Amino acid sequence: EGGGNMAASGAGAPEGWCGPERPGAGGLALLGLAPSAPSCPHGPALLFVKTSQGKEEGRRFYACSACRDRKDCNFFQWEDEKVSETRLAAREEYNRNHQPPFTHRQNVERYKNFVLLPLSKRRFCQECQQLLLPAEWEKHSDHQFLCDISSAQLKSPSQLLYPLENKKTNAQYLFADRSCQFLLDLIIGLGFRRVLSVGTPRLHEMIQSKASQEDFRVRSLLLDIDFRYSQFYTEDEFCHYNMFNHYFFGGEAARETCRKFLYQDSGERVIMVTDPPFGGLVEALASSFKKLMAMWKDTEKEGHNNQEMPVFWIFPYFFESRILEFFPSFSMMDYQVDYDNHALYKHGKTGRRQSPVRIFTNLTPSMIVLPVEEGYRFCTICQRYVSSGNQHCEICNSCTSKDGRRWKHCVLCKKCVKPSWFHCKNCNCCALQNHTCEKTDAVCFVCGKAGHKRSTCPSLSHT
Ligand code: SAH
Ligand code: ZN
Ligand code: ZN
Ligand code: ZN
Ligand code: ZN
Repeated sequence: EGGGNMAASGAGAPEGWCGPERPGAGGLALLGLAPSAPSCPHGPALLFVKTSQGKEEGRRFYACSACRDRKDCNFFQWEDEKVSETRLAAREEYNRNHQPPFTHRQNVERYKNFVLLPLSKRRFCQECQQLLLPAEWEKHSDHQFLCDISSAQLKSPSQLLYPLENKKTNAQYLFADRSCQFLLDLIIGLGFRRVLSVGTPRLHEMIQSKASQEDFRVRSLLLDIDFRYSQFYTEDEFCHYNMFNHYFFGGEAARETCRKFLYQDSGERVIMVTDPPFGGLVEALASSFKKLMAMWKDTEKEGHNNQEMPVFWIFPYFFESRILEFFPSFSMMDYQVDYDNHALYKHGKTGRRQSPVRIFTNLTPSMIVLPVEEGYRFCTICQRYVSSGNQHCEICNSCTSKDGRRWKHCVLCKKCVKPSWFHCKNCNCCALQNHTCEKTDAVCFVCGKAGHKRSTCPSLSHT
């Protein structure tokens, strides 16, 4: 079952978004990155343990950090397992063979040759997701390909590449243009000149394509596990990186590229923006982000006056308590981040569901100015921008809505709750009127329907 059973914090999740896999309900717990962990093609494996009723039980084991689907990487090893020399050698061989066909360096060379070709000879193989040089056409003759790849297309690889949304592993949900532009304007408005884009290829691409214009001084470094991007960016613009175990596939040289990028000379301020897959493993993400933040801190001798590297962590609002557990200095903004290719996360105003995805940041909330033309307003008491529906509760003394709808205060619970909830005397808390007392109905974290778990959600399977 891999990490598919990882607990998604259901606290405050909307109807249909509750994680079925609450801690204690029986599942897997992540123990973390052990120093002597064995490696799969995705870097050091993570240590897990089976849990039941919140208690650890059974043997601990290592599994792939990046892939929540056994089909993508089936690495498995008991912690106390003796692995023979022959198996170790076979594993190393396997890991080598499961690296991409071209190195990043080779891809950069290929790109240089590709842009020299006349338009009529610029082909992209859709099956292999690869820019083709004329000598390779033959080999891909029965594949579908795109012709006349323009410079504009080369500048928007996220449009050219197929989003890996069918795979649980990558879960590539690309920002809608409106949200991406908002993020970039916000970053520039806050005075940042360098963006460490961790799993945000579309933001990176927007910055890169503007960087060719004069008077645009912002730079970006993309860290992502999707190696297809190495075809479009140099080694100074992209690092093949696994954010679940802080693993740089390009080794020390890539790590150094990242370190150099984080070093802010001439007052060029750095911010990290990340939009990880939502499938759990918050603790693994947090541990990697702490390491990136430490890298930033180490770049300056004075230690940045005990400051933290500024961060935007883009994640669903119902992970709020989990994120704050690891980053107490963070707070959640009301801005709803929209996506192009996710039916559930598109903008509410178009008649679809409102997006549950928010920005978590360690910057002062009052500095995060949200668009008034989209209905956001400034609450002078809370000192932050809030959704139009988010009313300031006199009793809680805060704007309490998490999902954008107007919440109501329950005197018995002593807090604000969702508008659709009622106080249940049996459960001694607020819940949906038709809830079954003392029992949480398990629903899928991804699509919100009952009857299956996230790991077997039909909406994740190939369409
Ligand atoms: N909204 C963003 C994309 C977020 S989708 C944008 O439009 O730019 C999640 C991203 O994280 C994808 O680019 C995916 O390739 C990347 N990703 C998934 N698993 C990863 C991992 N283990 N390490 C690093 N990046 C990962
Ligand atoms: Zn793996
Ligand atoms: Zn091909
Ligand atoms: Zn209240
Ligand atoms: Zn109540």
